[in-house]
Amino acid sequence: MEISYAFLTDNYRCLDGCAFCCLCEPEIPDEELATFLSDENLKPMVLRKFADGEYKYVIKLKNRHGACSFLQERKCTIYSARPLYCRLYPFQRHLSTRLQITANLSCRGLWENSGENPRTVASALLPGEKKIARIAGQLKERYRETIEGMEEDGVYIAQPEVQKLVLELLPLFTTEAGLEKILSFADGNELASAEPSEIRATEVVVDAEKYASEMSLEVFSEKEILNLPVYPAPNLDWCILRFENGNLKWYRMDEEGGLKPERNIELTAKLKPLDDEAKALLERYLGLLNERDLTYGNALLLTDFSHNEIPVLSNYLGALATSVLELWWRANLFAHHVIDRAALREGIIFYDADYLDKPTLGAVF
Ligand code: SF4
Ligand code: SF4
Repeated sequence: MEISYAFLTDNYRCLDGCAFCCLCEPEIPDEELATFLSDENLKPMVLRKFADGEYKYVIKLKNRHGACSFLQERKCTIYSARPLYCRLYPFQRHLSTRLQITANLSCRGLWENSGENPRTVASALLPGEKKIARIAGQLKERYRETIEGMEEDGVYIAQPEVQKLVLELLPLFTTEAGLEKILSFADGNELASAEPSEIRATEVVVDAEKYASEMSLEVFSEKEILNLPVYPAPNLDWCILRFENGNLKWYRMDEEGGLKPERNIELTAKLKPLDDEAKALLERYLGLLNERDLTYGNALLLTDFSHNEIPVLSNYLGALATSVLELWWRANLFAHHVIDRAALREGIIFYDADYLDKPTLGAVF
C-alpha cells in the first residue's frame, strides 16, 4: 500500500515536563485490552465509553476532565505499558485508499530547532501489514459505495482535482476578502467542480469577521471543560479559554483539572492583519491541510451526511476556509496590532489538535 507523509516542521523532540498529550482519554486498542484488564493496577482506570457510534475502552481522566489518571507531576507512571495512542503521539496514522502519517502541530516538540526528523521517527511507527490489510478491507466497500453514489448524484470531485484547485486559490485563503469569496462560493455551489476564476468572481454574502467570531465563541462556550480546546503555553502551562456570562477568560489548568483564572480577554470581532511572514506560514499550513487525507475524508463524510445534497467541493473549500478563520481568530489572541509569524504559530499550536479531531471517512488508528 502507498504510504504518504504530511509534515510542516523539520524537527521533533519530546519536551520534558510537557505532558500536553496526557490531557486526553487515551484509547486502549483491542490488542492491548487484555493486558490492561488483567492488571489490578491498570484495570480500575479503564473506562468503557460510547463514542462515535461505538463502545471504546479508554483510560479515565482525573476528576473527569483533568490529566490522564496515570500522570503524576507530568510523568507517566506506566510508561512502559502506556497504550498505542501515547506511543504514537504526536503522529497520527490515517488510512483511506493509502496510509498517511501526519503530525499534530499542537505538540510543541515539533516546533523545536533541534531533534529528530519527524519522518524518521514516524517511519518506525508504521502498523504491520496484516493490520493495514484488515482495516483497508473494512473500508473498501464503504469507499466504493460512497463514491459511486456521489458520482451518480453529480457531487463528487477526486482528491487530486480539489487539491489542485486549492493550491491555485492559496492567496485567496490568506485575506479576509478572499475567505469571504470562498465561503460565499461554498455556500451557494451545487456543482461537482469549478474553475478558480468562477470562485474569484463570486458575489460576497458572508462577513468573515462575524463568522470567525460567532464560530469561535461557540467553541469556547462549551459547558464541559473536557470539550474545551487546551492551549499549551510556551512555558508548558495548560491554558483554557472560556466564554462565560459575556466574558472571555483565560484559565490555567492543573493535573487534577482544577482551573485557576488568569486574566480576562478584551472581546473584539476584528481580525488583526497578518504580516508577510505570517501570511507565508499560513499558506504553508494550508498546504499541509490540503495535503492531509483527513481533510478530503472529512469533506466526503460531510457530503455523505447531507445525503449528497452538498457537493464534496463545497464541503472541502468550506472546511478549509472555516479552519483558517478559527485559526486566525485564535492567533489574534497572541498579537498586538498585527499578527506576525510567532503569533500565527501560536494560533496553529492552539488549533491543530482540533483540526485533527475532525471526523473523516478513513480510519484513524
Ligand atoms: S505534546 Fe509533544 S512534546 Fe509534549 S509530551 Fe506530548 S509528545 Fe512530548
Ligand atoms: S498512559 Fe501515560 S503517556 Fe499515556 S496519557 Fe496516560 S500518563 Fe500520558
